Amino acid sequence: MSKASLERGLNALREEIDAPVAAFFSSCVNCGLCAEACLFYTETGDPRYTPINKLEPLRRIWEQEFTLWGRVKKALGLSQPVTDELLQEWEPLVYDACSLCGRCSMVCPVGNDIAYMIRKEREGFVASGNAPEGMKGASARAIKVGSPMGVKFHAVQAQIRHIEADTGLEVPVDVEGADYLALLSSMEIMNFPEYIEALARIFKQAGVSWTLCSEAFEATNAGIQIGSSDIAAELVERVVKGAEKLKVKYVISPECGHAYTAIRWEGPNLIGRRYPFKVVHILELLDELRVTGRLKTQGLDEARLTFHDPCQIVRKGGVLEPPRNLLKQVASNFVEMSDHREMNWCCGGGGGVSANERADELRLKVFARKKSQLDELNVDKLVTACANCRLMLEDGLEEYRVELPVVGLTEMLAEHLVEDNE
Ligand code: SF4
Ligand code: SF4
Repeated sequence: MSKASLERGLNALREEIDAPVAAFFSSCVNCGLCAEACLFYTETGDPRYTPINKLEPLRRIWEQEFTLWGRVKKALGLSQPVTDELLQEWEPLVYDACSLCGRCSMVCPVGNDIAYMIRKEREGFVASGNAPEGMKGASARAIKVGSPMGVKFHAVQAQIRHIEADTGLEVPVDVEGADYLALLSSMEIMNFPEYIEALARIFKQAGVSWTLCSEAFEATNAGIQIGSSDIAAELVERVVKGAEKLKVKYVISPECGHAYTAIRWEGPNLIGRRYPFKVVHILELLDELRVTGRLKTQGLDEARLTFHDPCQIVRKGGVLEPPRNLLKQVASNFVEMSDHREMNWCCGGGGGVSANERADELRLKVFARKKSQLDELNVDKLVTACANCRLMLEDGLEEYRVELPVVGLTEMLAEHLVEDNE
């Protein structure tokens, strides 16, 4: 990538102004509904955090360079240019105060996809050098080492050795011709390796032909989070090459929200070609195994529990019913949160916010929304299906001194598997 500069940033912002973006800006009626949908605004009351305000640099370029009235205003000195100072001032609004959760896009009466525009706006910010250090570091590690947390494949192998010693099961690696290539997030590898064990147990019972790939194990895409299509494309290409090399039919996106958006929805556009395989989210695959009778479970968890919908999985991916179908198979007392499915509130740490230490204080402040959702329910357990959400939920609950176990849905299913000898 060439060196970041204001000029590169402005060019990148200009390039992002396509027909949908122009239509969005010209159709906005300033109703304010998107503000009421954004937890960074509702939990702080700070007008700088309204979704539409976060788009001001992009809006200014659009108005000044793509509309007649804006050009006249600019010529008469009636509008302010987009400067490095403006981008520096807006950087925390665009990165710390937006998890790209997409909730604002759900409520806009004229159909503006505001989250999509903030994602595009980040392209200009990163090209100008205005992006959080934590996210710059994560992107650099993803390119150089293979994962945003700096996890190398030998760390995965270490987890595999533990799992194989504990369970006697095999975790297949680099198996050419397997049906499914399972991706992992480095958050799972380092914090929740139980997920890998759960896959091994479930797939063994269900007779799923699967493998990991030593050259392409990481599912998360730091390029999408920071807003660099170049980096995002390189990371998607790595997965595609790994899948092609092993000749798999499917790639499984793990329990990670934005990984699913990256590999399933943005990936083909980023690399400019169709995949020779299909992408499924792990919950979609597990639900298919349930429907076809290959996911055999026993017993019901009687704890009162609820499910946190990861934003990218429900809003971008539409994976709404699979987690509920699966939960009902193993839990007898499942209750929904007040806003659930596609209107669920974000954990606060998506879109790279969790990789940006500077945003920690704000992230924990806006967690008040999730806390109040949970307070209404008085549950004994919280289930989710995204390692990043899980970590953010644990962190938020600790901050608010709430003792509530958070578990991953895939692991929960594995705990209820009918064992082979039964
Ligand atoms: S995508 Fe989410 S966090 Fe970002 S502005 Fe919209 S509602 Fe707020
Ligand atoms: S909800 Fe839509 S129309 Fe209303 S202020 Fe937000 S972007 Fe504009």
